[in-house]
Amino acid sequence: MTMKLLILAGDGIGPEVMAEVVKVIEWHKRQGLDFVVSHDLVGGAAYDAHGTPLTDATMERAQGVDAVLLGAVGGPKYDNLDFSVKPERGLLRLRKEMDLYANLRPAQCFDALADHSSLKRDLVAGLDIMIVRELTSGVYFGEPRGVSREGNERVGINTHRYTESEIARVARSAFELARKRSNRVCSMEKRNVMEAGILWHDVVEEVHKAEYADVELSHMLADAGAMQIVRAPKQFDVIVTDNLFGDLLSDCAAMLTGSLGMLPSASLGAPMENGRPKALYEPVHGSAPDIAGQGKANPIACILSFAMALRYSFDLGAEADRLEAAVEDVLAEGLRTPDLGQDEDTRSVGTQEMGDAILKA
Ligand code: ATP
Ligand code: MG
Repeated sequence: MTMKLLILAGDGIGPEVMAEVVKVIEWHKRQGLDFVVSHDLVGGAAYDAHGTPLTDATMERAQGVDAVLLGAVGGPKYDNLDFSVKPERGLLRLRKEMDLYANLRPAQCFDALADHSSLKRDLVAGLDIMIVRELTSGVYFGEPRGVSREGNERVGINTHRYTESEIARVARSAFELARKRSNRVCSMEKRNVMEAGILWHDVVEEVHKAEYADVELSHMLADAGAMQIVRAPKQFDVIVTDNLFGDLLSDCAAMLTGSLGMLPSASLGAPMENGRPKALYEPVHGSAPDIAGQGKANPIACILSFAMALRYSFDLGAEADRLEAAVEDVLAEGLRTPDLGQDEDTRSVGTQEMGDAILKA
């Protein structure tokens, strides 16, 4: 079966790191994998060409492929644009219209970088956790919202709202993932102070009991969870949580691993007719305008995002393992882009040299 990819490299370092992913895809094509790749514009690049950060034609193209690979959007050049055409709006439209409700953010600590973490080596070496953040609902979207006047003062309102089906579908994503990993899910909410947290807890329990009783399920209040992620992160396998807590907890977990330049992500939606989920893969980092155009961006986050595509869109787990192992090897050899720091045992390389070394490995 052909595997259709749409590449939206975007702005800043987006095209630089994506160029290394293209090399990796070409390599896989030479091994006989039937990837069909198309390219299009998103973010500031699309605004420059078309006056909008995502055209309808691009949106349609994204709906018609198996996976979208995105680089990064935005940059200082676009800071003063009207809110409706800001580069980030292009990405938000993609997520919203593709209904990508499960945001997967792994926090994995490669051994060669374990001393680079903000924590002690024995706390993070070998760390491999996956945070599943609900991405399309919760307090960032709930109505009513806004700033209004009440009497003689202003009031800011956001509504933390979840429906049963919104919770159930992201819970299923987490349980499915756990089955392919260490078979453990920890659900985090704050049911002690939030009604939606009570519903979250109960629905996760129900889905577990009815469909995933083989998976080990635990619950933690999200504040205690934040503490545990820093205190003893290796106790977790898959963590499932809502949009707001997932935003915070995944950034928190990210700091365990070293650099922003190492962190991939996947955003998945419902299965399409061919059984593959709607999917968008992107590095966690942004367009990094401070280093754009200098050839020194770390391409690993973007390459690992493609490894996630291999695993979650195309069921090519062995190929994903191989790509991740190549990254591990290259780091073990001591190659480092500038963001990964330096010592007497390492060698500083640029974006392309890092990509080539991974390809060789
Ligand atoms: P955005 O709003 O697009 O997320 P940001 O300013 O919040 O942008 P980044 O663009 O990710 O965040 O940049 C944050 C810092 O991390 C910058 O100093 C940037 O140079 C650095 N950085 C981000 N990604 C990489 C990378 N792949 N390689 C090296 N450094 C990076
Ligand atoms: Mg940012």
